Amino acid sequence: MTKAKIAIFLLCFFVLVLGPSLMAQNHWLNTIVWVEKTPENVAKLKTMWLDILMDWQGKIWIVASPDDIRKLKDAEILYSNDDNEPDNKNESNNDNEPGNRLHKGLESISAQTTINGAFHSYREVESEVYALERSYPNLVQVHIIGNSLEMRNLYAIKISDNVQADEEGEAEVLITGCHHAREWISVEVPLYVAKHLAENYATDPHIRDLVDQAEVWIVPLLNPDGLEYTIHFYRYWRKNMRDNDNRTYGVDPNRNYDFMWGNDNEGSSAISSSYVYRGPAPFSEPETQAIRDLFAQRDFQVSINYHNYSQVIIYPWGYTNEPSEMDALLEEMASEMAARMERVNGRVYGYGQAGNQLYLTNGGATDWALGVYGIPAFTMELPPVDQQQGGFYNPEEEIPSIVRENIPAMLYVIEWAIENK
Ligand SMILES: [Zn+2]
Repeated sequence: MTKAKIAIFLLCFFVLVLGPSLMAQNHWLNTIVWVEKTPENVAKLKTMWLDILMDWQGKIWIVASPDDIRKLKDAEILYSNDDNEPDNKNESNNDNEPGNRLHKGLESISAQTTINGAFHSYREVESEVYALERSYPNLVQVHIIGNSLEMRNLYAIKISDNVQADEEGEAEVLITGCHHAREWISVEVPLYVAKHLAENYATDPHIRDLVDQAEVWIVPLLNPDGLEYTIHFYRYWRKNMRDNDNRTYGVDPNRNYDFMWGNDNEGSSAISSSYVYRGPAPFSEPETQAIRDLFAQRDFQVSINYHNYSQVIIYPWGYTNEPSEMDALLEEMASEMAARMERVNGRVYGYGQAGNQLYLTNGGATDWALGVYGIPAFTMELPPVDQQQGGFYNPEEEIPSIVRENIPAMLYVIEWAIENK
């Protein structure tokens, strides 16, 4: 090879081979910060070529690399990666010094962000589930049912009396959250259901009765890699973080179950860049494998999968508009759940067969649970109703009311499982 050819070869090697891997690594040093939307800041930002995430409520949110952070400092633009207003900071904290309180982005890049506010990150879910187990060791047991692609634990919380024992004859219920990364509220409800059952067991005879007769399995965060990506990088990410080996990422876990998988290209996609990519094979993903394996070990009578948004309770089939043989029962259960939820805050949840209510889906968790195990299964699409009401964004202030209205519906589901064991 001539020197020129070697140079070209090396250049190609760096661009094609090392470039993407270096980019992928640097990617993880990025953080999201906000700056006040003042005319001066807007004018300065115009020439800085930053990755503007959104412009919302008087703040401009930026996906910032360490270099970008330096640019912000050089331009004397105050920024923060903290969701709190600076004035709300603890008075005893040195950060409250006027000169310091906003310049904390670079130092805390690898630390946990609070941009997810009251919503739970992976680490926050982890500490919550173990704290619950420590507080109620006879009622709560944490299980690791698998690992994500980025080696995060997939946690299941088992709630029952004599929780250490596998009690023959008790009804079993499965509740999951966060198949889809950007659906943050779908983590909160399952987590709160677990806390509610444990914390009220001693004082509420009805809850004690249910927990004594059932084993409730709760997987609050099935897609931790995706969730972390939505917190740190891209709020609208939906899939897991599978590297599809063609510069596209992610499989949609809720199109990856082995029932009518890939039935058509309307209910899922064979194209890896699609947000509903079903993966190369059914159960190709560790997240869905974990649910498959948990089902094989347990004897669930009913399963509920939390998602948002749409404010609707949907049930199989998703892959076709034809009703299932269980249609009447599914409609009765969904209508009872909706009625009990409406009584809490007056919020009305619609209900109906998935294939008719939203759009066709194949390879979904609920179709699989009914199709393979013959049990009633529901997708609970949490508020809001539509994009105009916020879409995937639920204001933090609404978390308590949304989780509270779901409690009576979940208690009903547990009652049903006990009665139909
Ligand atoms: Zn979803």
